Amino acid sequence: MNLPKRDDRFDGGRAMADLIRLCALGPRPSGSAANQRQRELVAEHFRRCGGTVRIQEFSGDHPLTGEPVPMANVVASWRPGEADRILIGAHGDTRPRADLERDPVRRLGPFVGANDGASGVAALMELARLLPDVGIGLGVDLAMFDAEELVFDEEGAYCLGSLEFARRAREDEEAGGPRYGAALVLDMIAGREMVLRREGFGLDYAWWLTEEVWDIARGLGASRFSEAIGRYVEDDHLPLLAAGIPAIALVDIEFPQWHTLGDVPEACSAGSIAEVGRVVLAWIERWADSSQQTT
Ligand SMILES: [Zn+2]
Repeated sequence: MNLPKRDDRFDGGRAMADLIRLCALGPRPSGSAANQRQRELVAEHFRRCGGTVRIQEFSGDHPLTGEPVPMANVVASWRPGEADRILIGAHGDTRPRADLERDPVRRLGPFVGANDGASGVAALMELARLLPDVGIGLGVDLAMFDAEELVFDEEGAYCLGSLEFARRAREDEEAGGPRYGAALVLDMIAGREMVLRREGFGLDYAWWLTEEVWDIARGLGASRFSEAIGRYVEDDHLPLLAAGIPAIALVDIEFPQWHTLGDVPEACSAGSIAEVGRVVLAWIERWADSSQQTT
């Protein structure tokens, strides 16, 4: 019998500890003091793990007041001199309100976004610890996007941070800078009952990349990756795709506590986040292997 080899490098327990630490900062919507503290914490962590960190500052309009809101992405690069790069991104901001709570008072309650926000960032933090030794010969960037959802009910625009990132990436590439061969977006990857279905836009616009990742998941026996075709999800992969970067989102949009006050660390599991982390790690290694063969 050909059982998949056990790979414990991506530590789900350590990623869960990061998730809990991020949630302890409180709700982290764009423009908030907690969002700023998270940015500092994550940037410092990336630096300690050997990443070359850039802060991409920009500004958006508050959907209700029209006032400018300061926003910033944190982008960290390993092996920054490599022209061939891949990207793993996640949004760090949390939704300002728990819109899917039926009770109007609960809707205003503190929404900490343990799965919707912290899980993707926690996975990036654990990947950062491993990147000095993983993907040698390949440029790997981790991006924490701001302002994925500074949205109140229907008011506001999605994915402002990834839009800003994609704009700059395109400018850099046109100026002779590095090029991203592929990107994965991680969003809601820690739910206890997580099922990752193949997301619609990723299938339509980056079919081969979806296939590549699910092929790795099958090889690793990652049973939370489902062959089912999921919904179309407006997420940070869309601005990347529009900028010509092949991108897919690993997103569990059926998370039962989605946009409710129940999106807390107790609704998350180390096993789910570790399974995604191990697939992403193997994906990075596959890209590094093929880039070595072509150079
Ligand atoms: Zn959300």
